[in-house]
Amino acid sequence: MASTQRSPAELDASKLRITLAQELKPIPPSNDVHFGQNITDHMAFASYDPIEGWSAPEIKPYGPLTLYPASSCFQYATSAFEGMKAYIGPDGEPRLFRPAKNLARFLRSASRLSLPLFAPDELLNIMKTLLRVERRWIPDQRGHSLYLRPMIIGTRHNSALLWIMCSPIGQYPSIGARPLSLLAVNDAVRAWPGGTGEYKISGNYGPTIGPMQVAHQQGYDQCLWLLGDRVTEAGVMNIFVVLKRDDDSVDLLTPSLDGTILPGITRESVLDLAAAHPSRTVLPGLSKSLHIYAGERDITMGGLQTWLAEECLLEVLVVGTAVVIQPVGRIGYKGVDLILPVYDGGLGPVGKALHQRITDIQYGVFEWDGWSVRC
Ligand SMILES: *Cc1c(COP(=O)(O)O)cnc(C)c1O
Repeated sequence: MASTQRSPAELDASKLRITLAQELKPIPPSNDVHFGQNITDHMAFASYDPIEGWSAPEIKPYGPLTLYPASSCFQYATSAFEGMKAYIGPDGEPRLFRPAKNLARFLRSASRLSLPLFAPDELLNIMKTLLRVERRWIPDQRGHSLYLRPMIIGTRHNSALLWIMCSPIGQYPSIGARPLSLLAVNDAVRAWPGGTGEYKISGNYGPTIGPMQVAHQQGYDQCLWLLGDRVTEAGVMNIFVVLKRDDDSVDLLTPSLDGTILPGITRESVLDLAAAHPSRTVLPGLSKSLHIYAGERDITMGGLQTWLAEECLLEVLVVGTAVVIQPVGRIGYKGVDLILPVYDGGLGPVGKALHQRITDIQYGVFEWDGWSVRC
Protein backbone atom coordinates (compact mmCIF):
# COMPACT_ATOMS: atom_id res chain seq x y z
CA MET A 1 0.00 0.00 0.00
CA ALA A 2 1.37 3.34 -1.02
CA SER A 3 1.75 5.63 1.91
CA THR A 4 1.05 9.22 0.91
CA GLN A 5 3.83 10.89 2.77
CA ARG A 6 3.88 14.43 1.41
CA SER A 7 6.21 17.12 2.54
CA PRO A 8 4.58 20.42 3.53
CA ALA A 9 4.14 22.79 0.58
CA GLU A 10 6.59 25.63 0.05
CA LEU A 11 5.43 29.20 -0.37
CA ASP A 12 4.78 29.36 -4.12
CA ALA A 13 4.06 32.62 -5.95
CA SER A 14 2.90 30.73 -9.05
CA LYS A 15 -0.15 29.54 -7.08
CA LEU A 16 -1.20 33.15 -6.35
CA ARG A 17 -4.97 33.75 -6.49
CA ILE A 18 -6.33 37.27 -6.83
CA THR A 19 -9.73 38.35 -5.49
CA LEU A 20 -10.34 42.03 -6.13
CA ALA A 21 -12.32 44.24 -3.75
CA GLN A 22 -15.92 44.97 -4.85
CA GLU A 23 -15.59 48.60 -3.97
CA LEU A 24 -12.40 50.58 -4.04
CA LYS A 25 -11.62 53.26 -1.48
CA PRO A 26 -11.05 56.85 -2.54
CA ILE A 27 -7.35 57.69 -2.44
CA PRO A 28 -6.62 60.23 0.29
CA PRO A 29 -4.11 63.01 -0.28
CA SER A 30 -0.74 61.40 0.39
CA ASN A 31 0.40 63.77 3.10
CA ASP A 32 -0.07 61.41 6.03
CA VAL A 33 3.30 60.48 7.33
CA HIS A 34 2.39 57.66 9.66
CA PHE A 35 2.04 54.09 8.61
CA GLY A 36 -1.45 52.75 9.07
CA GLN A 37 -3.46 55.97 8.72
CA ASN A 38 -4.75 54.65 5.41
CA ILE A 39 -4.42 51.05 4.35
CA THR A 40 -4.96 50.23 0.67
CA ASP A 41 -7.76 48.05 -0.76
CA HIS A 42 -5.88 44.75 -0.88
CA MET A 43 -3.38 42.68 1.04
CA ALA A 44 -1.29 39.66 0.17
CA PHE A 45 -1.94 36.72 2.47
CA ALA A 46 -0.82 33.13 3.08
CA SER A 47 -1.23 30.70 5.95
CA TYR A 48 0.94 27.83 7.11
CA ASP A 49 0.22 24.66 8.98
CA PRO A 50 2.81 21.99 9.72
CA ILE A 51 1.01 19.22 7.76
CA GLU A 52 -0.05 21.06 4.60
CA GLY A 53 2.68 23.66 4.60
CA TRP A 54 1.99 27.00 2.94
CA SER A 55 -1.44 27.67 1.47
CA ALA A 56 -1.73 29.05 -2.04
CA PRO A 57 -0.99 32.75 -1.54
CA GLU A 58 -3.80 35.20 -2.15
CA ILE A 59 -4.27 38.84 -2.90
CA LYS A 60 -7.59 39.73 -1.37
CA PRO A 61 -9.48 42.70 0.07
CA TYR A 62 -7.83 44.15 3.18
CA GLY A 63 -9.85 43.18 6.22
CA PRO A 64 -9.81 41.79 9.76
CA LEU A 65 -8.24 38.48 10.77
CA THR A 66 -9.89 35.89 12.99
CA LEU A 67 -7.53 34.44 15.58
CA TYR A 68 -7.85 32.12 18.55
CA PRO A 69 -7.08 33.90 21.81
CA ALA A 70 -4.54 31.15 22.55
CA SER A 71 -2.48 32.07 19.48
CA SER A 72 1.20 32.16 20.31
CA CYS A 73 1.63 35.67 18.87
CA PHE A 74 -0.44 36.94 21.80
CA GLN A 75 1.20 34.87 24.54
CA TYR A 76 4.81 34.94 23.35
CA ALA A 77 5.07 37.73 20.77
CA THR A 78 5.87 35.33 17.93
CA SER A 79 5.57 38.16 15.46
CA ALA A 80 8.06 39.67 13.03
CA PHE A 81 7.74 42.39 10.44
CA GLU A 82 9.48 44.42 7.76
CA GLY A 83 9.23 47.99 6.58
CA MET A 84 9.95 48.94 2.99
CA LYS A 85 8.70 51.39 0.39
CA ALA A 86 7.64 51.40 -3.26
CA TYR A 87 8.45 54.45 -5.36
CA ILE A 88 7.32 55.55 -8.81
CA GLY A 89 10.16 56.06 -11.27
CA PRO A 90 10.29 58.55 -14.16
CA ASP A 91 8.85 55.80 -16.40
CA GLY A 92 5.75 55.54 -14.20
CA GLU A 93 6.76 52.06 -13.01
CA PRO A 94 6.75 51.07 -9.32
CA ARG A 95 10.15 50.27 -7.88
CA LEU A 96 11.47 48.75 -4.67
CA PHE A 97 14.78 49.63 -3.03
CA ARG A 98 17.04 46.61 -2.43
CA PRO A 99 14.00 44.43 -1.58
CA ALA A 100 16.01 41.21 -1.41
CA LYS A 101 17.78 42.67 1.64
CA ASN A 102 14.49 43.27 3.46
CA LEU A 103 13.13 39.85 2.61
CA ALA A 104 16.33 38.10 3.70
CA ARG A 105 16.10 40.00 7.01
CA PHE A 106 12.42 39.06 7.30
CA LEU A 107 13.38 35.41 6.92
CA ARG A 108 16.08 35.75 9.61
CA SER A 109 13.55 37.34 11.98
CA ALA A 110 10.99 34.58 11.34
CA SER A 111 13.67 31.97 11.83
CA ARG A 112 14.74 33.49 15.18
CA LEU A 113 11.17 32.95 16.40
CA SER A 114 10.99 29.42 14.96
CA LEU A 115 8.24 30.55 12.62
CA PRO A 116 7.86 28.71 9.31
CA LEU A 117 10.35 29.60 6.60
CA PHE A 118 9.76 30.60 3.01
CA ALA A 119 11.78 31.44 -0.08
CA PRO A 120 12.28 35.24 -0.07
CA ASP A 121 12.11 35.31 -3.89
CA GLU A 122 8.61 33.84 -3.82
CA LEU A 123 7.51 36.52 -1.38
CA LEU A 124 9.12 39.18 -3.57
CA ASN A 125 7.12 37.96 -6.56
CA ILE A 126 3.92 38.09 -4.51
CA MET A 127 4.84 41.62 -3.40
CA LYS A 128 5.46 42.75 -6.97
CA THR A 129 2.02 41.49 -8.00
CA LEU A 130 0.44 43.24 -5.02
CA LEU A 131 2.12 46.48 -6.13
CA ARG A 132 0.73 46.09 -9.64
CA VAL A 133 -2.76 45.56 -8.17
CA GLU A 134 -2.32 48.62 -5.89
CA ARG A 135 -0.56 50.76 -8.52
CA ARG A 136 -3.10 53.60 -8.19
CA TRP A 137 -2.18 53.91 -4.48
CA ILE A 138 1.50 54.60 -5.06
CA PRO A 139 1.96 58.38 -4.97
CA ASP A 140 4.13 59.63 -7.81
CA GLN A 141 5.31 62.80 -6.11
CA ARG A 142 8.96 62.86 -5.17
CA GLY A 143 9.28 62.22 -1.44
CA HIS A 144 6.03 60.24 -1.35
CA SER A 145 5.80 56.47 -1.52
CA LEU A 146 3.77 53.41 -0.65
CA TYR A 147 4.91 51.88 2.62
CA LEU A 148 4.85 48.08 2.68
CA ARG A 149 4.54 46.14 5.89
CA PRO A 150 5.09 42.37 5.60
CA MET A 151 4.24 40.49 8.81
CA ILE A 152 4.40 36.94 10.02
CA ILE A 153 2.79 35.72 13.24
CA GLY A 154 2.55 32.41 15.06
CA THR A 155 -1.00 31.19 15.67
CA ARG A 156 -1.62 27.73 17.17
CA HIS A 157 0.19 24.38 16.98
CA ASN A 158 3.13 25.64 14.94
CA SER A 159 0.84 27.32 12.44
CA ALA A 160 1.37 30.83 11.16
CA LEU A 161 -0.09 33.63 9.08
CA LEU A 162 1.85 35.88 6.76
CA TRP A 163 0.60 39.01 5.05
CA ILE A 164 1.70 42.21 3.37
CA MET A 165 -0.27 45.41 3.84
CA CYS A 166 0.35 48.78 2.22
CA SER A 167 -0.16 52.38 3.22
CA PRO A 168 0.57 55.53 1.20
CA ILE A 169 2.81 57.96 3.01
CA GLY A 170 3.90 61.47 2.25
CA GLN A 171 7.09 63.28 2.99
CA TYR A 172 7.98 63.80 6.61
CA PRO A 173 7.40 67.56 6.88
CA SER A 174 10.61 67.81 8.86
CA ILE A 175 12.78 66.13 6.21
CA GLY A 176 15.94 68.08 5.73
CA ALA A 177 14.37 71.04 7.46
CA ARG A 178 14.09 70.36 11.17
CA PRO A 179 16.90 68.60 12.99
CA LEU A 180 15.66 65.98 15.44
CA SER A 181 16.17 66.14 19.17
CA LEU A 182 17.10 62.94 21.03
CA LEU A 183 16.85 62.07 24.70
CA ALA A 184 19.61 59.68 25.77
CA VAL A 185 17.83 57.04 27.85
CA ASN A 186 19.58 56.03 31.07
CA ASP A 187 17.04 53.77 32.75
CA ALA A 188 16.06 51.39 29.93
CA VAL A 189 17.92 49.58 27.17
CA ARG A 190 16.44 48.63 23.81
CA ALA A 191 18.71 45.65 23.21
CA TRP A 192 21.52 43.88 25.01
CA PRO A 193 24.35 41.44 24.22
CA GLY A 194 22.90 38.01 23.52
CA GLY A 195 19.42 39.49 23.05
CA THR A 196 17.39 39.95 19.89
CA GLY A 197 18.05 43.60 18.98
CA GLU A 198 19.36 42.63 15.55
CA TYR A 199 16.01 41.11 14.53
CA LYS A 200 12.89 43.03 13.47
CA ILE A 201 10.64 41.13 15.86
CA SER A 202 7.67 42.75 17.57
CA GLY A 203 8.91 41.96 21.08
CA ASN A 204 11.69 44.52 20.63
CA TYR A 205 9.29 47.39 20.00
CA GLY A 206 6.41 47.34 22.51
CA PRO A 207 8.74 48.01 25.47
CA THR A 208 10.14 51.13 23.75
CA ILE A 209 6.78 52.92 23.66
CA GLY A 210 6.96 54.00 27.34
CA PRO A 211 10.46 55.55 27.15
CA MET A 212 9.43 57.21 23.86
CA GLN A 213 6.45 58.84 25.60
CA VAL A 214 8.76 60.10 28.34
CA ALA A 215 11.04 61.60 25.68
CA HIS A 216 8.06 63.31 24.04
CA GLN A 217 6.87 64.70 27.37
CA GLN A 218 10.31 66.19 27.91
CA GLY A 219 10.23 67.82 24.49
CA TYR A 220 12.40 65.40 22.51
CA ASP A 221 11.46 63.69 19.25
CA GLN A 222 13.05 60.29 19.89
CA CYS A 223 15.00 58.20 22.36
CA LEU A 224 18.72 57.72 21.98
CA TRP A 225 19.32 54.13 23.08
CA LEU A 226 22.49 53.51 25.05
CA LEU A 227 24.23 50.45 26.38
CA GLY A 228 26.21 51.81 29.29
CA ASP A 229 27.96 54.82 27.74
CA ARG A 230 27.74 53.38 24.22
CA VAL A 231 25.33 54.79 21.67
CA THR A 232 23.41 52.05 19.85
CA GLU A 233 20.42 53.45 17.91
CA ALA A 234 17.95 56.34 17.92
CA GLY A 235 14.24 55.50 17.98
CA VAL A 236 13.97 52.87 15.25
CA MET A 237 16.82 54.31 13.26
CA ASN A 238 20.55 53.69 12.93
CA ILE A 239 22.92 56.49 13.86
CA PHE A 240 25.99 57.99 12.19
CA VAL A 241 28.49 60.69 13.08
CA VAL A 242 30.64 62.71 10.68
CA LEU A 243 34.00 63.77 12.12
CA LYS A 244 36.59 66.13 10.69
CA ARG A 245 40.15 64.87 10.37
CA ASP A 246 43.20 67.13 10.50
CA ASP A 247 43.71 66.89 6.74
CA ASP A 248 40.06 67.92 6.06
CA SER A 249 38.98 64.43 5.09
CA VAL A 250 36.11 63.04 7.20
CA ASP A 251 35.17 59.93 9.11
CA LEU A 252 31.61 58.64 8.72
CA LEU A 253 31.07 56.26 11.63
CA THR A 254 28.30 54.03 12.90
CA PRO A 255 28.31 51.38 15.65
CA SER A 256 29.20 47.90 14.44
CA LEU A 257 26.61 45.12 14.16
CA ASP A 258 27.35 43.48 17.51
CA GLY A 259 23.91 41.90 17.88
CA THR A 260 22.32 44.91 19.62
CA ILE A 261 21.94 46.91 16.41
CA LEU A 262 19.26 46.38 13.77
CA PRO A 263 21.13 45.86 10.47
CA GLY A 264 19.38 48.63 8.55
CA ILE A 265 19.33 48.61 4.77
CA THR A 266 19.65 52.40 4.77
CA ARG A 267 22.68 52.03 7.10
CA GLU A 268 24.31 49.56 4.73
CA SER A 269 23.53 51.76 1.73
CA VAL A 270 25.04 54.82 3.44
CA LEU A 271 28.24 52.88 4.18
CA ASP A 272 28.41 51.52 0.60
CA LEU A 273 27.85 54.89 -1.08
CA ALA A 274 30.25 56.77 1.19
CA ALA A 275 32.94 54.17 0.43
CA ALA A 276 32.29 54.63 -3.32
CA HIS A 277 33.05 58.38 -3.13
CA PRO A 278 34.97 59.66 -5.06
CA SER A 279 36.52 56.60 -6.78
CA ARG A 280 33.34 55.00 -8.17
CA THR A 281 30.98 57.96 -8.03
CA VAL A 282 31.06 61.56 -6.85
CA LEU A 283 28.26 62.21 -4.40
CA PRO A 284 26.11 65.28 -5.19
CA GLY A 285 27.52 68.52 -3.80
CA LEU A 286 30.71 66.95 -2.41
CA SER A 287 34.18 67.72 -3.67
CA LYS A 288 36.09 65.04 -5.60
CA SER A 289 39.00 65.68 -3.28
CA LEU A 290 37.01 64.93 -0.12
CA HIS A 291 37.92 61.53 1.22
CA ILE A 292 35.26 59.85 3.40
CA TYR A 293 36.53 57.12 5.71
CA ALA A 294 33.31 55.17 6.17
CA GLY A 295 33.30 52.51 8.83
CA GLU A 296 32.05 50.93 12.00
CA ARG A 297 33.26 52.08 15.38
CA ASP A 298 32.00 52.43 18.93
CA ILE A 299 30.39 55.80 19.60
CA THR A 300 30.11 56.76 23.27
CA MET A 301 28.43 59.68 25.01
CA GLY A 302 31.87 60.63 26.33
CA GLY A 303 33.24 60.53 22.80
CA LEU A 304 30.44 62.77 21.51
CA GLN A 305 31.18 65.30 24.26
CA THR A 306 34.92 65.26 23.48
CA TRP A 307 34.40 65.57 19.69
CA LEU A 308 32.00 68.43 20.30
CA ALA A 309 34.46 70.23 22.60
CA GLU A 310 37.28 69.71 20.07
CA GLU A 311 35.03 71.01 17.28
CA CYS A 312 35.56 67.97 15.08
CA LEU A 313 31.97 66.69 15.30
CA LEU A 314 30.42 67.91 12.04
CA GLU A 315 27.14 65.99 11.71
CA VAL A 316 25.03 63.51 13.62
CA LEU A 317 22.61 61.64 11.37
CA VAL A 318 19.84 59.11 11.87
CA VAL A 319 18.91 56.82 9.00
CA GLY A 320 16.12 54.40 8.15
CA THR A 321 13.55 53.62 5.46
CA ALA A 322 10.98 56.05 6.92
CA VAL A 323 13.15 59.18 7.16
CA VAL A 324 15.97 58.15 4.78
CA ILE A 325 18.50 60.47 6.48
CA GLN A 326 17.71 63.13 9.03
CA PRO A 327 19.99 65.44 11.01
CA VAL A 328 20.15 65.49 14.80
CA GLY A 329 20.37 68.94 16.38
CA ARG A 330 20.28 68.25 20.10
CA ILE A 331 20.89 65.34 22.48
CA GLY A 332 19.63 65.49 26.06
CA TYR A 333 21.98 63.60 28.38
CA LYS A 334 21.93 63.60 32.19
CA GLY A 335 19.94 66.84 32.29
CA VAL A 336 22.18 68.74 29.87
CA ASP A 337 21.64 69.32 26.15
CA LEU A 338 24.48 68.67 23.74
CA ILE A 339 23.92 71.23 21.00
CA LEU A 340 25.13 69.92 17.64
CA PRO A 341 26.29 71.95 14.61
CA VAL A 342 23.45 73.41 12.51
CA TYR A 343 23.29 73.81 8.75
CA ASP A 344 21.09 75.79 6.40
CA GLY A 345 18.27 73.52 5.27
CA GLY A 346 18.95 71.03 8.09
CA LEU A 347 21.34 68.42 6.77
CA GLY A 348 25.08 69.04 6.66
CA PRO A 349 27.03 68.46 3.42
CA VAL A 350 27.67 64.72 3.93
CA GLY A 351 24.11 63.96 5.08
CA LYS A 352 22.69 66.02 2.24
CA ALA A 353 24.83 64.30 -0.41
CA LEU A 354 23.84 60.85 0.84
CA HIS A 355 20.15 61.79 1.14
CA GLN A 356 20.14 63.14 -2.41
CA ARG A 357 21.89 60.11 -3.86
CA ILE A 358 19.84 57.49 -2.01
CA THR A 359 16.52 59.11 -2.94
CA ASP A 360 17.70 59.51 -6.56
CA ILE A 361 18.34 55.77 -6.62
CA GLN A 362 15.02 55.00 -4.92
CA TYR A 363 13.04 57.08 -7.43
CA GLY A 364 14.91 55.55 -10.37
CA VAL A 365 16.65 58.81 -11.31
CA PHE A 366 20.15 57.41 -10.71
CA GLU A 367 21.10 53.83 -11.57
CA TRP A 368 23.32 52.13 -9.01
CA ASP A 369 24.29 48.48 -8.75
CA GLY A 370 20.75 47.21 -9.34
CA TRP A 371 19.52 48.68 -6.04
CA SER A 372 16.29 49.93 -7.57
CA VAL A 373 14.17 46.96 -8.64
CA ARG A 374 11.31 47.50 -11.08
CA CYS A 375 8.10 45.66 -10.42
C1 LIG B 1 13.83 49.06 10.82
C2 LIG B 1 14.81 49.60 11.78
C3 LIG B 1 15.92 50.38 11.38
C4 LIG B 1 16.12 50.86 9.98
O1 LIG B 1 16.27 49.85 9.04
P1 LIG B 1 16.07 50.14 7.50
O2 LIG B 1 16.25 48.82 6.85
O3 LIG B 1 17.10 51.12 7.09
O4 LIG B 1 14.69 50.71 7.35
C5 LIG B 1 16.84 50.76 12.34
N1 LIG B 1 16.67 50.42 13.65
C6 LIG B 1 15.62 49.71 14.07
C7 LIG B 1 15.50 49.37 15.51
C8 LIG B 1 14.65 49.28 13.16
O5 LIG B 1 13.61 48.57 13.59
